[in-house]
Amino acid sequence: MTSDPSQQPAVDFHQLRLDGVYRMNDADELMLRIKVPAGVLSVEQALKTAELAERFAGARVHLTTRGSIELHRVRLADLPAIGRGLAAVGLTTRGACGGAVRGIACSTSFSRNFALTQSLVRRLHRHFAGNPHFENLPKKFKIGVEDGYAGSRHLIQDLGLVLIDAQGAEPRYDVWVAGGLGREPQAALLFAEGVAESRLLPLAEAVVRLHARHTPTGKRLKHVVRRLGEESFRRLLDAELNGRPERLAPAGLDTLPAPPTACAPVTAAIFAGDLDTSLLRRLATLARDHAGGYLAVTADQNLAFAPLNEDDRRELLAHLAAAGLGGASPEERTTLRVCVGNHACRMGLSPTREVARRMLQAMPGDARALSWAISGCPNSCSQPQLADFGVISSRLIKDDQGERQPRFDVYRRKDAKLGDRIHQELTLAELLDVVSRIK
Ligand code: SF4
Repeated sequence: MTSDPSQQPAVDFHQLRLDGVYRMNDADELMLRIKVPAGVLSVEQALKTAELAERFAGARVHLTTRGSIELHRVRLADLPAIGRGLAAVGLTTRGACGGAVRGIACSTSFSRNFALTQSLVRRLHRHFAGNPHFENLPKKFKIGVEDGYAGSRHLIQDLGLVLIDAQGAEPRYDVWVAGGLGREPQAALLFAEGVAESRLLPLAEAVVRLHARHTPTGKRLKHVVRRLGEESFRRLLDAELNGRPERLAPAGLDTLPAPPTACAPVTAAIFAGDLDTSLLRRLATLARDHAGGYLAVTADQNLAFAPLNEDDRRELLAHLAAAGLGGASPEERTTLRVCVGNHACRMGLSPTREVARRMLQAMPGDARALSWAISGCPNSCSQPQLADFGVISSRLIKDDQGERQPRFDVYRRKDAKLGDRIHQELTLAELLDVVSRIK
């Protein structure tokens, strides 16, 4: 084998996406996304992630709104070592990017029914992660499992499952399909109500197959609904489902890392989901000592604990307050989801963390009780249309000095649907002025 770079085979970065890898820039720094099943990390997994980030990713990690973890500025040569380290603690990056069934989002509310939704997500994760029947899809396929309708995240999934009955012989879920954000946001449609859990795996397979067969390359499933209309889409899905056996999911023990707890969860507020590994190590230690050895990546890019009793809960709150993560500052008190923007994403049009900080400074006190989100491009990874106020960096426009500056669209959500655009192509100064007047 030659060591001459010109003789090395070219790297197929497109195919590498299936291993959770995106190029960040022309210098070939990479982003590696780790799937965290149901968003719940064991202490060992958190510590291993911290160790790998220290060795290979500048000692920082990024928490996503879908409960995954990203390492940034990774080098190609280090991917095998990182993969081995993750595998040693049961984590994978397979299918975290590209045309695959992505990391499955799950409510991390630690509610009474958390064990049910978590169990379902782990089964689906085991079935789809790395399964070649469900890879090389036209585009990503997102599944979300929710323990209720709060948050409305079912609206933006290719397949959204909402638990509506946990009391019967078998849990039952409403099934939503073909939602998605991006440049053409589309709310999911309700395909079926109260579906028994044993029917969900064949149904999920049918929806993924429909995506593989009928969606043009580069498009999400929502495109099929838009092109064919809802009735034709339903007929196609019915045809995919026909004759499929029930109970495809292999039976077996579910090892649930986070048991239901009588205590209210405790959340460590992580600004923009961006944290250094020393903090991740401290939080993992708190999880070991006071929360049964587990912590969860929440939909708002924070880390949550399920304390086993009230003493542990008090200890956790005291430690988090001492660490400046207990909700004392505006940054900690405000629900503000922030994608990585041009800090780490080649699609990013704006420095989202800086803009988010400026928005927080401009925000009047009452507005901090609302939920906020900002995305660095119309791909909407921070889910701006699900926040009370959402901001999207929509395009770059040259200013008087010829510098390309981001412009921002603002979305307002007032009901159970996706938010509507209320401002378009604002400058940063105009955006901050709008934010300062929100009550
Ligand atoms: S919204 Fe755009 S800029 Fe932000 S992470 Fe997603 S693709 Fe990147």
